[in-house]
Amino acid sequence: MKKSCVIVGGGVVAILAAHILSKKYKKVHIIEQSESLGGLLSSKNFNREVYFDYGPHLFTLTGIKKIDEILFGPLAELKSSWVQHDYLYDSNFFTKWNIGSSLIDIKSLPQALYKESLSELIKVKTLNKTDNYNDYITSNFGKILKINIFDNVINKIYGSVDLDQMSIKSLKVFGLHRVLAFTNEETLKLKEQYIYDERIALHSFEQDKRNLKFYYPKGEKGVGYWVQKQILDLQRKNIIIHNNNTVESINFSDQHINSLTLKSGKKLDLDFCLWTVPPALGLKAANIKYQGQIPKTRSNIIFHFEFDKSLINNKSTYLWNWDLSYRTFRVTLYPNLNKKTKKNFSYITVEVLCDYSEQDAINSEQIIKELKILNIIPMDTSCLFVKKEFIRSSFPILTQDYGKQTYELNNIFEESFSNLKTAGRHSGRVWFMNEALIDLYNLVS
Ligand SMILES: Cc1cc2nc3c(=O)[nH]c(=O)nc-3n(C[C@H](O)[C@H](O)[C@H](O)COP(=O)(O)OP(=O)(O)OC[C@H]3O[C@@H](n4cnc5c(N)ncnc54)[C@H](O)[C@@H]3O)c2cc1C
Repeated sequence: MKKSCVIVGGGVVAILAAHILSKKYKKVHIIEQSESLGGLLSSKNFNREVYFDYGPHLFTLTGIKKIDEILFGPLAELKSSWVQHDYLYDSNFFTKWNIGSSLIDIKSLPQALYKESLSELIKVKTLNKTDNYNDYITSNFGKILKINIFDNVINKIYGSVDLDQMSIKSLKVFGLHRVLAFTNEETLKLKEQYIYDERIALHSFEQDKRNLKFYYPKGEKGVGYWVQKQILDLQRKNIIIHNNNTVESINFSDQHINSLTLKSGKKLDLDFCLWTVPPALGLKAANIKYQGQIPKTRSNIIFHFEFDKSLINNKSTYLWNWDLSYRTFRVTLYPNLNKKTKKNFSYITVEVLCDYSEQDAINSEQIIKELKILNIIPMDTSCLFVKKEFIRSSFPILTQDYGKQTYELNNIFEESFSNLKTAGRHSGRVWFMNEALIDLYNLVS
């Protein structure tokens, strides 16, 4: 067994890594800048009765038994400790509501425009597989959908970007490279052909044959409850957690990291370092100059609200708003998530994507107004509580160069040291929780 390993960052990826690496190293340290582990997977109650979450809320099985048993405990007892959702009850707004899907229904376009867009969509006989957003959408969907739907959605998610620099992955990451069109029967028939299957979507999440189940911790404490249980587990395994700490300097010789000096002044000797925070911070701590481009990101404002009325929608867990005329982006409806409803009360989290410079300009009054117009809360609802939080650089701007830029940045950092690897969303290889966990597992197990 090797001696010591240090994991920098304390998000969900670091938690899984600590479990796995504790089998290989006598000592495992986690360095976390905030006061608790969990990263975006955390919940706070702000001295209220209910808990609000941050990034992801729902877990799905990864399909890798060893990961799933660490995350969920004994799989046979899954149903007793988690609220199981048989579908992801996603809905979306784009000029109007579609309660059965997170994807855009192009039938919401004016009738004549819809018909014209269908004729453009049908006439495509071969799929253009380019990564360039402009070319992909123009050749596979036509100009009408590009101008009236896709360009607006890109602006909503990524701000005012140069469309010609964007990658089609910018839509694929949300599944938005498929649209709802035609009737349900026509869709099912058309989707038998690859050329349509790649561009049109099922009319409802209930038709999804993947049989994915979604899990939310039972009880009132949100996803943070899962984190608290994990912390106890890690402590039982003698994993040392250094909260409120960061890495001041990386001390190395001959490309081998010997130790890390922390902000607290403590020095940790190590055999292996797993870096789950931005690589740019590591280059700085090692005093390595980087001349290349730093990949661009967007930020988030998160509004946690309590209201004195029930929600109008008592089924959906997430509401997506792709409509450029609103700032509201995604709404999490907790009463539908943990299946607990209190009369004359509701609580939700609203995510708004924004540029760094916009953080003060967007306020809760504006968002409450939108929630009323969007028919999410009744017009006569009063707000009982609001908490606004800003999360800087939370979402990658998926240009065609993004992959290359993150790869280069990571590569320079990783190749500088023989005993360091990067993992997690900051590595740039992955962003969603499960893909980040599987990537980590393949790296360290
Ligand atoms: C608003 C939002 C919504 C999301 N929704 C979903 C979703 O619905 N589904 C999904 O699958 N994924 C979602 N994601 C992505 C998901 O959050 C990530 O996949 C997941 O959190 C990755 O975990 P991680 O450990 O890599 O990173 P993080 O959760 O970001 O953890 C990194 C940790 O490092 C710490 N840290 C940062 N800098 C330092 C430093 N210098 N020193 C020490 N510690 C440091 C942070 O405090 C944090 O605890 C969402 C992300 C955001 C921003």
